[in-house]
Amino acid sequence: MNMIQRPRRLRISSGMRDLVRETELSPRDFVYPIFVVPGEHIKEEIPSMPGCYHYSVDQVAALAREIAALGIPAVEVFGLPEYKDEIGSSAWDMTSPVQRAITAIKDAVPELVVVGDVCLCQYTSHGHCGELHDHYVDNDATLPHLVKTAISQARAGADIVAPSDMMDGRVAAIRAGLDAEGFVNTSIMSYAVKYASGYYGPFRDAVDSTPSFGDRRQYQMDPANAREALKEAALDVQEGADIIMVKPALVYLDIVRQVYEATDRPIAVYNVSGEYAMVKAAAANGWIDEQRIVLETLTSMKRAGAKIIITYHAMDAAAWLTA
Ligand SMILES: [Zn+2]
Repeated sequence: MNMIQRPRRLRISSGMRDLVRETELSPRDFVYPIFVVPGEHIKEEIPSMPGCYHYSVDQVAALAREIAALGIPAVEVFGLPEYKDEIGSSAWDMTSPVQRAITAIKDAVPELVVVGDVCLCQYTSHGHCGELHDHYVDNDATLPHLVKTAISQARAGADIVAPSDMMDGRVAAIRAGLDAEGFVNTSIMSYAVKYASGYYGPFRDAVDSTPSFGDRRQYQMDPANAREALKEAALDVQEGADIIMVKPALVYLDIVRQVYEATDRPIAVYNVSGEYAMVKAAAANGWIDEQRIVLETLTSMKRAGAKIIITYHAMDAAAWLTA
């Protein structure tokens, strides 16, 4: 009697492997982040993020068409403002690059879903994510600024606003603010579970948002904590978040799976700049096969439970998947 079990039977041909594959990665899973800057005719590569660029607003319509043509359904807009101050008031200025870019993208490709990143650190002179009182980010004083920012992005045309600041109570405040202005169909994708991570380094260069003192550990989460992630996710669901995000992605896939199992909301992950930069650096050295590593990495995020993957690899990966 042959007692050997033979799982290899289902791997014998590419047809068999296609038939039994459990996770299918698609361009439809991706959100491509876009960085907009003041000025005109600008497309400048970000040194620590090869293949990613700063764009002036006049460039984003063409970029949006290119992204949509690849089958990617959404973009998230980040930006550098014209001016910074203590409270980050350029974050809700309708003439700032982010608001103008959102409008330009929706005008060019109305079906492309546009996500606005709601935070103040790119807009404050001190680089923290809220209003400061004696070197302490004042939670409740910050909320009205976040609400104004979210409303301004909805007014510009954003389909989704995505608060990334980790202030308590901001999802409820933003929901109430949007509803009061008539934006009942603007979704909230909450950065519900955002860790104080070393993997954000290249992004901070990209948006010039490194805090002028201290760090963000008083509001972003301790990388050692998992149960706290479930608390944060549950609170944001209660407050009205439509989509729950875990950030960063790769070294928190255990958290992605736990949050996926604990909530009925779609899960998003942010495949952050440090994760991207490591792959690009190793690929540039010829140490890894970039295409293979990227697709395997993005598949791992989907397998863990994410439906939405915000990634700088989106355009390359979409092209590879449809080649
Ligand atoms: Zn921030």
